[in-house]
Amino acid sequence: MCVWHKGAVSNEQVGFHFDNTYARELDGFYVPVTPARPLRPALVRLNRGLAEAMGLDVDALASQAAEIFSGARVPPGAEPIAQAYAGHQFGGFSPRLGDGRALLLGEHIDRAGTRRDLALKGSGRTVFSRGGDGKAALGPMLREYVMGEAMHALGVPTTRALAVVTTGDVVPRDRLLPGAVLARVAASHLRVGTFELFAARGEYDQVHRLADYAIRRHDPALIDAPDRYLGLLRAVAARQAELIARWMLVGFIHGVMNTDNMTLSGETIDYGPCAFLEAYDPVAVFSSIDHQGRYAFGRQPAMARWNLARFAETLLPLIDPADGDAAAAQAMEVLDGFHARYEKHLALGVRAKLGLAASEPDDALLARDWLALLAADAVDHTVAWRALADAVTTDGRALEALFQDPGAVRAWLERWRARGAREAHSPTERAAAMRAVSPVYIPRNERVEEALEAAQERGDLGPFERLLEAVTKPFEERAGLEAYARPSPREVTARYQTFCGT
Ligand code: AMP
Ligand code: MG
Repeated sequence: MCVWHKGAVSNEQVGFHFDNTYARELDGFYVPVTPARPLRPALVRLNRGLAEAMGLDVDALASQAAEIFSGARVPPGAEPIAQAYAGHQFGGFSPRLGDGRALLLGEHIDRAGTRRDLALKGSGRTVFSRGGDGKAALGPMLREYVMGEAMHALGVPTTRALAVVTTGDVVPRDRLLPGAVLARVAASHLRVGTFELFAARGEYDQVHRLADYAIRRHDPALIDAPDRYLGLLRAVAARQAELIARWMLVGFIHGVMNTDNMTLSGETIDYGPCAFLEAYDPVAVFSSIDHQGRYAFGRQPAMARWNLARFAETLLPLIDPADGDAAAAQAMEVLDGFHARYEKHLALGVRAKLGLAASEPDDALLARDWLALLAADAVDHTVAWRALADAVTTDGRALEALFQDPGAVRAWLERWRARGAREAHSPTERAAAMRAVSPVYIPRNERVEEALEAAQERGDLGPFERLLEAVTKPFEERAGLEAYARPSPREVTARYQTFCGT
């Protein structure tokens, strides 16, 4: 029999296999860092499912997670670096941002050959910290964990949490909070802001190197394409068009869509001041610092296009080094196509939520009128869509009851039923298909805050675990989880505020 002592489990047992292309190939785009020494590291939560998907030995990892993810021990093969980037924040350009409280441990490759960045957030100061302490509090790191897992379960591309650990340090915020580190897994951490860093200085050799790297990493089919930089722009725009459509379909508000928070991979990143929409409202904003509503729910597609324009600008000298006007014209064509692409993904998703497998010209109008009804009565977005699925096989009374004006929704339901009658599938099949795309459970504001407070204030992870259980199987209605399907009271949503960089 083999007995493993805690300290005896080696890196090989965990199964990390690092191959750090970013550190190797992108000199100038990072600074090596030493993680801050944690006082008393402890594992709070390990994402066992993700660890397994990464080909790691879950039990071996669990025994070392506190040490590895708090930064106390750098696993062999990892090379901690702080990535450098710039970015447009709320429209204004910051030439120097970078990982101020994060570091990239390295790129892990699993047995299937999938490469993933493994990063720590809250791991201490770096040269990019400016006035910040480089630390993170437990609540916000658990928030990122649960939001990311919910998004993943909803089928939205996202970075994910592999673990949350506490460091034993106290982090001063509006009060003293337990310090924590989030281990984050991403397809990469390349951002629009990474391109802006050297483009803003006119150092296009560096932008060239970065673009070639990004193509190798995310769009290898373009490596030999003569118009590969335009191709990269097109590919990133395509991924973002689909991503934003998915956000809109589930009612996700990112809250801080700065260019440093927009990935090349098309994954959602940086769950700071984000929130899910409850009452349907296109101008909903939860972020405490978004005074102008720049990143309001309904503005997200336009803001994504704005960010892509900033990305396109960094690529112009690569797209056509000899002719700036020609490069701009080609880039504009891609940018001008963004909205149509987004609308296509959105329409596809909305049709599925309406239970319409076939496509008819008036479907868009039907969808628009439905959302207008939700907006008029501030009906809960998630509850309404789910109730619509139920209405396929019932009289729809429960749905009507959600509205202040049942007359208007009744008239709409008649149109929708007439349209549904022309569908080939049976009502039972249609209802099931609708329930597979309209969730019962989302991370509701009240439930998220309750879970984080219990964990942060009382060390009680029970509510967090229950919330996670609900939102990681969002389409499967289960007894005992009713509180997770219920809208937060209006007063809660009305004064709900989320925060960045906390
Ligand atoms: P975020 O809002 O998380 O996207 O962060 C924006 C910028 O602020 C990034 O450069 C972060 O690294 C930096 N930042 C946020 N919080 C801290 C902190 N506590 N200490 C140092 N830098 C931070
Ligand atoms: Mg960020």
